[in-house]
Amino acid sequence: MRMKSAILINPGLLEINSKSDIPEPGPGEVVVKVRAALTCGTDLKAYLRGHPKIPLPSPLGHEFAGDIHSLADDVRGFSKGEPVMAVHSAPCGECSFCTRGLENLCKSLMDEKVLGAYAQYIKLPARIVKQNLYKKPDVLSYKEAAMLEPLACVVHGLNVLKDISYETVLIIGAGPVGLLFLMLLKMRGKRVIVAGRGELRLAMARELGADAVMDASLDTMAWSTMEATDGLGVDLVIEATGKREVWEATPGLVRPGGTVLLFGGTAPGESVCFDPARLHYDEIKLYGAFHFTPADVREAYVILSGGKLDVKKLITGEYPLDRLMESFDELIAGRGIKFAIIP
Ligand SMILES: [Zn+2]
Ligand SMILES: [Zn+2]
Repeated sequence: MRMKSAILINPGLLEINSKSDIPEPGPGEVVVKVRAALTCGTDLKAYLRGHPKIPLPSPLGHEFAGDIHSLADDVRGFSKGEPVMAVHSAPCGECSFCTRGLENLCKSLMDEKVLGAYAQYIKLPARIVKQNLYKKPDVLSYKEAAMLEPLACVVHGLNVLKDISYETVLIIGAGPVGLLFLMLLKMRGKRVIVAGRGELRLAMARELGADAVMDASLDTMAWSTMEATDGLGVDLVIEATGKREVWEATPGLVRPGGTVLLFGGTAPGESVCFDPARLHYDEIKLYGAFHFTPADVREAYVILSGGKLDVKKLITGEYPLDRLMESFDELIAGRGIKFAIIP
């Protein structure tokens, strides 16, 4: 039996075809019938310029929720037809990073990840089934449940800062990631300023509770930040654009003793410059964050299931799988935040 799926042949060339077989589960594996997948900046970047971790041709899409279509006999705790949500990777548990508790840096994490959520079915390997597959509660729609992966990334970002104290935060970037940071920080009672581009995204930031919003212009951001904080500056800056010039600007946007979380991945081969005096005399701390651990996924699952984050606000439309490319074009034109793709 064949299924419909999206295959990225080359950057800019995405094919929706019915050439792939519906996968069969091997030992420990589960095949999910995808009910909703979401567009993500990573997929869009892969579509536009290719991706170092995605050799082509490749299936695409990694945020999804659906129903269990089939499962191996040795899988416990799940049954056929059950609605589930998952993320597309899981650590090995055995390498030198996993055994140090750095499971987000697991040596085989990226090689073993599954892509192909823009399809009718997706097969989850045993390590995902064991660690990162959850039953979907009725309170969540499939679209909302598909937010598990991006939310886990953002939860991880804040967990990297768990020993830092901060009250006032500047988020640069009002895309899905920046807006998820905003929602999570407001839930935790922080004061949040969002710098972004485009009226739609800034209006969304306002609606989601941002205390102030501003244009993410490098010429005016430092001044606007001081104005929004009565000259005190912010305790924490979160970089969520992945642009080199924004990375470089971040140490200049935080108060002395403050912290910067560099979250947005830059293009391959990029390098950045900082003023060392700022880092030394003002003790600015720079943190990186990548991906998530199973504990982050669990935390994201608990948050989503609790219904406290109105994540459906970030899903600004719906497209059938055949029209996936149109949804990408809308994102490129700045006319949406995330779209649900329904196979
Ligand atoms: Zn994603
Ligand atoms: Zn590992």
